[in-house]
Amino acid sequence: MREIKSHPILHFDRGGQIEFSFEGKKISAYQSETVAMALYRNGLNVFSESSKLHRPRGMFCAIGKCSSCMMRVNGVPNVCTCILPVREGMQVERQFGLGEKPSGVVHFPPPVERKETVTIIGGGPAGLSAAIVFAENGVKPLVIEQNPSLGGQLIKQTHKFFGSKNEGAGIRGIKIAEEMIQKVKKLEIPTLTRSSAFGFYPETGTLGVFKENQYIKVHSDYYLFATGAAERMIPFEGNDLPGVFGAGAAQTMMNIFGIRPGNRVLMVGAGNVGLIISYQLLQAGVEVAGVVEAAPRIGGYFVHAAKLRRFGVPIITSTTIKRAIGATRVEKAVIVSLDDKFNEIPNSEKEWDVDTVCLSTGLIPSVTLLAQAGCKMKYSPYLSGYVPIRNKNLMTTKENIFIAGDVSGVEEASTAILEGKLAAYSILKKMGKNTDVQIDETRRELEKLRSGPFGVKILKGLQEVQYE
Ligand SMILES: Cc1cc2nc3c(=O)[nH]c(=O)nc-3n(C[C@H](O)[C@H](O)[C@H](O)COP(=O)(O)OP(=O)(O)OC[C@H]3O[C@@H](n4cnc5c(N)ncnc54)[C@H](O)[C@@H]3O)c2cc1C
Repeated sequence: MREIKSHPILHFDRGGQIEFSFEGKKISAYQSETVAMALYRNGLNVFSESSKLHRPRGMFCAIGKCSSCMMRVNGVPNVCTCILPVREGMQVERQFGLGEKPSGVVHFPPPVERKETVTIIGGGPAGLSAAIVFAENGVKPLVIEQNPSLGGQLIKQTHKFFGSKNEGAGIRGIKIAEEMIQKVKKLEIPTLTRSSAFGFYPETGTLGVFKENQYIKVHSDYYLFATGAAERMIPFEGNDLPGVFGAGAAQTMMNIFGIRPGNRVLMVGAGNVGLIISYQLLQAGVEVAGVVEAAPRIGGYFVHAAKLRRFGVPIITSTTIKRAIGATRVEKAVIVSLDDKFNEIPNSEKEWDVDTVCLSTGLIPSVTLLAQAGCKMKYSPYLSGYVPIRNKNLMTTKENIFIAGDVSGVEEASTAILEGKLAAYSILKKMGKNTDVQIDETRRELEKLRSGPFGVKILKGLQEVQYE
């Protein structure tokens, strides 16, 4: 019932079918699916439960950034099933309760050591654009990506891009990703997909990576962190019920795996992401009951709002979600009107019949590895959270650690691509190559992109976190 059979833009090449075991039952999966996607397509809502109150939990981010889909796989607990590809005969079970331990002794192969010149963590637009610059200048970096495929958030963005013409405006995100991935292949850049960087050890300068069950110790002269961002949860009653998703998770399900997240959706947040994903839900055959926005006006572009209105989808400003209601899955949502100080207006609640709530309420930079590496951090609301303090060439307070893209402050793909290039040219300069001209040019392009109304807050944020 959840499988999308036809789509106006996408064709789903799902591959052949295999079987795995879920709590003793046989589940059929497509070869291209991850474990969580196969389970969701087969009707599973409850993926885990809270440890104390045993409240049901569903999948939330679908890109390996939260813990809500963690299960025990072949005896190993706490495996993020949303990014784990299915394999014939694997044994999967939910883990309920505190203190998950492996069931019996799990034998991992001995660690493998790798010596690299440059290691890039994250294969999204920032990481890939950096990798291409390195390779074109005679340095082959290692790219580490935890998802099964490269491309970051671009591989699910079916809309035509806004932003800079040089960085793909007017082209669909999926096409930009395709072109970058092709270039990475052509340049024979070494990549490790399905590989999570889980720890950085500053004493030895080592990055710990898990590729399936293989532990890899990476020693690199330079590190570029391009780990992107994670979706922001907002506080409301029932926000942990299955059926409450990050909007990007709904996009991953629909546009990568061809799965409908629900039948009738309430979208929370009318920025570009909320508006775009609402339209993509309609394209996938999902009813969008409406979009609510806490601010008094719509944050996204007029063109995206107009498309939704043409389909009769209401966009209601000065309104937010108050409660999600349901036993083991969202069955209803209560919305409430807000005054000009964002206080709830008494008796303004309305109950909507929806089975899915999508939160498009912002992103938080994924900085944990950088904090572990000892890079100094600062909170900047303009950059969407804690971000590393850096110089104008994107070097953090640690000599050989650089950043690029959403991890340095949430913006958009065009700036992520440019930051990737800037970080790469800066590292090349540190290696003794003359890249001053390219550094100046890239900085100028970034300034141009940030000169519009959407760049104002980013420039304020940069003033707070840039040290040179
Ligand atoms: C719905 C939507 C619409 C958008 N539309 C536009 C648009 O029209 N124009 C535009 O310019 N921008 C748009 N954006 C924004 C754009 O997609 C992001 O700003 C951009 O993808 C950021 O690039 P990035 O490389 O920094 O991060 P990401 O694309 O998020 O890539 C980061 C990568 O790092 C990997 N990673 C993270 N941690 C680890 C780890 N520990 N180990 C290994 N790998 C790791 C992740 O799996 C991911 O693949 C949109 C975003 C969304 C969600």
